Amino acid sequence: MSDKLDAEKYEKHRQAGEILAQVRDEAAERTEVGTGYLEISEWAEERIRELGDDRGVPAEPAFPVNVSVDNEAAHGAAAPGDDRTIGEEMVKLDIGVHIDGWLADTAVTVDFTGTADLVEAAEEALDAALEQVEPGVHTGEIGAAIESTIDGYGYNPVVNLTGHGLGRWDQHTAPNIPNRGVDSGTELAVGDVVAIEPFATDGGGKVTEGAQEEIYALEEEASVRNRQARQALEQIVEEFKTLPFARRWLDTRRAKMALRRLEQQGVVHGYPVLQESEGTLVAQREHTVIVTEDGCEVTTR
Ligand code: MN
Ligand code: MN
Repeated sequence: MSDKLDAEKYEKHRQAGEILAQVRDEAAERTEVGTGYLEISEWAEERIRELGDDRGVPAEPAFPVNVSVDNEAAHGAAAPGDDRTIGEEMVKLDIGVHIDGWLADTAVTVDFTGTADLVEAAEEALDAALEQVEPGVHTGEIGAAIESTIDGYGYNPVVNLTGHGLGRWDQHTAPNIPNRGVDSGTELAVGDVVAIEPFATDGGGKVTEGAQEEIYALEEEASVRNRQARQALEQIVEEFKTLPFARRWLDTRRAKMALRRLEQQGVVHGYPVLQESEGTLVAQREHTVIVTEDGCEVTTR
């Protein structure tokens, strides 16, 4: 990549991060017991575009706002017409912004259960992870810092969820950033853009797929016979490309049927809710960083 294109890329990552940090903090403040899933999600998604307009940049949500509560760790999301509201729960808001495909990804936990130390465990684990980041650090060392911090609180890291690299139009690319110490892994280099996201839980530390599925992404384009499915696919390719999207973002009527057909044909894949066992709680914190000569720059601070 030429120096000019490279500079543009990092500038877009930075702007996406600044917009996202503000939206995350404002969304967390607006999240209360009784707030609607749809209300907070649509508010944040619109706010991203508004703050982009203010700066003259085409900022868009990089994926649907994830609203995951209690034992849900990730991929909870508002359905079309969703009338669910936040209860006295542990709420994870996971939000993304992209500018021309260059991403920022962040998450925060808003707790209404009175389990502050679990939230603190995830936050401290992220701080400990960020302190490890520099060129040449092994991703397993970052994972070890996360694991020992959460262990110190008497909780478990969720080990089958990881941080990840951020590519253009690609929310999850190499390298994985594990949430525990591992020997396998890779070394970070200057210029790498990665999201680090510790999850802490009072459960066993492994999530499984739940029934709810509201988030999808393009897998592979193919010709589709059904009219609604074809319309949906046109919008996906044009608007979302290879980034995740919500069922409620589709303009086509009968979006559920259209998505089912696309999923059956292997054209899109769904992201089911990922959850710990019933009755447990999960806290999450996430930042996006750019690896620098002497450490890292947090774009979502
Ligand atoms: Mn995220
Ligand atoms: Mn992420």
